[in-house]
Order: sequence, then C-alpha cells, then structure tokens
Amino acid sequence: MTISGNTNPTARAERQGPCKFIFVTGGVVSSLGKGIAAASIANLLESRGLRVTLQKMDPYLNVDPGTMSPFQHGEVFVTEDGAETDLDLGHYERFTHAPLTQANNWTSGRIYEKILIKERRGDYLGKTVQVIPHVTNEIKASIQRVATDDIDVALIEIGGTVGDIESLPFLEAIRQMRHELGRDNTAFVHVTLVPYIAAAGELKTKPTQHSVKELRAIGIQPDVLVCRTETDISREIKEKIALFCDVSREAVVAARDVDSVYKVPVNFAEQQVDEILLKHLRIDAPPRNLAPWLEMLERLDHPSGEVAIGIVGKYVDYEDSYKSLKEALLHGGLTHRLKVDVRWVEAESITAAEAHQQLSGLDGILVPGGFGERGIDGMLEAIRYAREAKIPYFGICLGMQTMVIEYVRNVCGIRDAHSTEFEPAAKNRVFFKLRELKGVEDLGGTMRLGSWPCVLSPGTLAYQCYGKTRIEERHRHRYEFNREFDEPITSKGMVISGETPDKTYVEICELPGHPWYLGCQFHPEFKSKPLEPHPLFASFVGAAGVRRSSRDAERRRSEESQFLRARADA
Ligand code: GLN
Repeated sequence: MTISGNTNPTARAERQGPCKFIFVTGGVVSSLGKGIAAASIANLLESRGLRVTLQKMDPYLNVDPGTMSPFQHGEVFVTEDGAETDLDLGHYERFTHAPLTQANNWTSGRIYEKILIKERRGDYLGKTVQVIPHVTNEIKASIQRVATDDIDVALIEIGGTVGDIESLPFLEAIRQMRHELGRDNTAFVHVTLVPYIAAAGELKTKPTQHSVKELRAIGIQPDVLVCRTETDISREIKEKIALFCDVSREAVVAARDVDSVYKVPVNFAEQQVDEILLKHLRIDAPPRNLAPWLEMLERLDHPSGEVAIGIVGKYVDYEDSYKSLKEALLHGGLTHRLKVDVRWVEAESITAAEAHQQLSGLDGILVPGGFGERGIDGMLEAIRYAREAKIPYFGICLGMQTMVIEYVRNVCGIRDAHSTEFEPAAKNRVFFKLRELKGVEDLGGTMRLGSWPCVLSPGTLAYQCYGKTRIEERHRHRYEFNREFDEPITSKGMVISGETPDKTYVEICELPGHPWYLGCQFHPEFKSKPLEPHPLFASFVGAAGVRRSSRDAERRRSEESQFLRARADA
C-alpha cells in the first residue's frame, strides 16, 4: 500500500458555498458495486474534512424495500428514523459518519406515490401530470432536500443500469441539475465493467464505450469512469478508454477486485479519485487523514487468530440478506484481531439428534432476525445445544425470541410456549403483537421500527458490554415479549437486562453462568462500523475467541497425552 496515513486529526475543510453534487451511475451490468464506489469516495472526502451525505435512488416501483423478499432484494437496512431502505445505505453508514434517514433513499414508487397524492388533492390545478416535468421535478426536489446547509458534497447514487427504461427519469433529472447548477457544482461518476476475456487474453473496453455512448445519448458526459476489473488496467487501455469516452486519462480509474470492500477507498486514494473530483468541483480541502482507516486495514490483514461463528438462519443461501450482520461480525473480530470465519447453517437442517455433530465445531452460534415459521424448530434445537454445551450464543430479534421460547419450554417446563407469529392461537404466548393489542398503528402497520431507547441493568453482561445504562438501538419487528412471563423465566435464572425506559418492552435477556448467552430484540448490526465495532458483537466474538483458545489448548493436551502414551507403549 503506497498511501500513508497522516496522523493529524482530520482538519475541517472551510465551508465553500452551497452543497456540490457527485452523481454515481452504473453501466454494462448490475452488481458492479456502485454503492461501495459511492461510499468509498465519500469516505475519502470525509477524510479531508468535508461534510458529506449520500442518497440512493432506486428505479423500481415498490414504495420501499420493506415488503420485498430478502431473496429478491437482500437485506432491508433500517435507519435511525425507522426507514426501511436499500442495503447500500448500510455501506454508506459503515464507510462514513453521514447520518442517514428516510430522505436518503427514494424509489420510483415513492416518487409516484407523492405525485399521485398531490394529483388527487388537486395540487396540479388541472394540468396534465407528466414524467417531464412533474416526475423529474419531484426527483430534483428530493435530491436538493438532502443538500442542506451543513453539507459540502452530496453523493447521489442512481440505481439500475444505464439503458434501463426505469431509470430514465432519474438520469434526466440529474442531467437537468448539471444544466442548472453548472459544471463546477456537479460531477458525474460512471461505474462500468472492463471484462477480461480469457480466450483472447485481453481486457475489453467495448462494453464501457457502449455504456458511455448510451449515457451521452441521454445528455450526460461522465467526468470520472470507475472501471471494475479483475486485474489492473494498463496505461494503454486507460488511454484508449479516455480517448473514446472523452474523459481525461487520470479520470479512468481501475477498480480491481479486492479481498475486502474496506480496501476500495485506499485503492481510490492511490489513483487520486478524491483529488480529481475536488479539482473538478473547485473545492479546496486539507490533505487526507486516512490513518484510522489504514490502522483498521492493518488489523484486518494481520489477525492473530480465527473463530468459527455459525449463523443459523433461513436465508443462508443468499448472504446479501444478512449483509450488515456479516460486517458487524467482522468488525467484532477487528476488536480482538480475530478473523471471523462465518459458517452459514440452514436452520431447517438442524435436528436434536444431530445438533452435536452439526454445531460442536463452532466457537459461537448466532440466530439472526427473520420472519415466518420456516426453520424455527431447527433454531430452537441450535439454541438448546448452545445453552447446554455452553457455546457462546447471540440471538438477534427473532434469535432473541426463539432464545426465550426455548428457555420457557425446556427450562421452565411450559412445553407449548410459542410466539403467536408461529401459532396464532398459542395458549402460552411468550411473544405477541403487543402494539396491535395497544392499538398502535403507524407507517409500517404495527411494526416497531427505528431507534428506541433502552435502559440497561448494572451488573449484567449487557451493561458490561456497553459500559453505560442508557443506549439507543434500531428495531424492525412486530412481536414483543409478554411480560406475564417475567416471573417464570427470571425465577429460573434468566435475566432481563434491558428494557424501554417505561418498562413496556423487554429489549435484552441473558443467562448468567453461561460463557456468553444474550438475546436482543433490536438489530445491533445496523450500527456497527469498521472503525466503531458494536460492543455486543465485539464482546460476543471475544467470547468465541476464549472458547477457541480453550478448545485449542484441549486439543494440544490430548495430542500430547496421545504422544506420551504412544511413547510409553513403544
Ligand atoms: N418476526 C419477528 C417479529 O416480527 C422477528 C423480526 C426480526 O427478526 N426482525 O417480531
């Protein structure tokens, strides 16, 4: 790595007029990592003392991804204000300090919803409501809304691929913004693919040329091309792309595959992407301070050990469904210099008879959030095994609910205990829709969404992790712990260590005397960042590390005694 860290704390750049915009589009194919590219540019700008924000525009017609299947759309990322958003917002938050809200993610569906409400209300005064100007104006207004006075640069990512019918209104809107705001205030970054064709032994630039041609047909001339490749791009190829696509050679950036997304900002810094954009936007900013980021990468690249964590869930074949969770485990590992080997375990495959064989090789077991009945029995078996075999266990949302249900059934002896999500008529309903019973109706129906305060009891594992009594965490669920079960579980040793300040909702339960056994009703993974690992993940991975060390020591002892026995026999 040729980029060195400036160890001075990041100096604030001086305010230089109204917010400027960097628009990020994608071409050739989807899944090129536009979100990571946008987040990495924002990361570099922040390292130069600039205040940034990011916004994602999704061209699909769903109003938000909240109702979409995790198989279709990956994880639903939840913001502080309870917006159910695209998983790219997770990257944005992990790579920067930008506080994101509902305003930072729009879909065509939500834009149209807004317009149709206005139309029904008669706001358009009898005019014909059209894609241009009404849809494009609404898009421009929602982009302008995140460009508040305290922001220097807003990065706007347009979802989809150039050439899609769906994304046209968004591209027209940003084209108009360049016309209105001028070249100095707007920059276009286009992310494309430069494939390596093995049969020819060559990198091919034609898809990029076509994609830029498509973009120019809409009236957008890119200023920077981020070319995704498997390898580096030679000077000649960069020159060829620059010539045919009409960008300067320095502005052709090779975004080669890297083994961690957290290395992308460094790769971009090596190619001066931030410098090129700042020059284009005429922004004077202090030099980069990448020291903390580089120190984090050093930990990532030089772990002192490894732990195996099993995620027992139902969307395990589609890892994007648990994006933030996977990242949060990695962050937890960074705290202890431990590499986390995530093992995806299909919940439906776990049985009581085989749990030992399936799970004993793990250093920690985690049941993540989820909806619906499939896999619940397997989760309950995995949790029972973790409790009895004293393997560190972390239950998140559904994983907390199943943790408590398992305890009520197998320790308190109430065999038919369940959640009404899985058995609507359950007599012993340990989890139920408390908000529906209380008549609470809000945006997500009866869903409890976004940041909620929680008070921790001193002397508990939860308190030890956070080191304070008052915390805030993000929620996305409907079912709540039924407080009639306080007595049964606490009399058998389980501890309620976190509650909402009014004590209505139970937020954290744990089991003293177990190496690490905790379930939380919220989703801590949404708040974990590589530079600020979440305390629960850090503590959980630490406990898994302790188990790994003792397992290693045990293995060494048994190998040693085997060796001694063999020698004595000889
Ligand atoms: N399905 C459960 C509920 O709605 C858990 C949700 C989750 O894990 N996010 O309460």
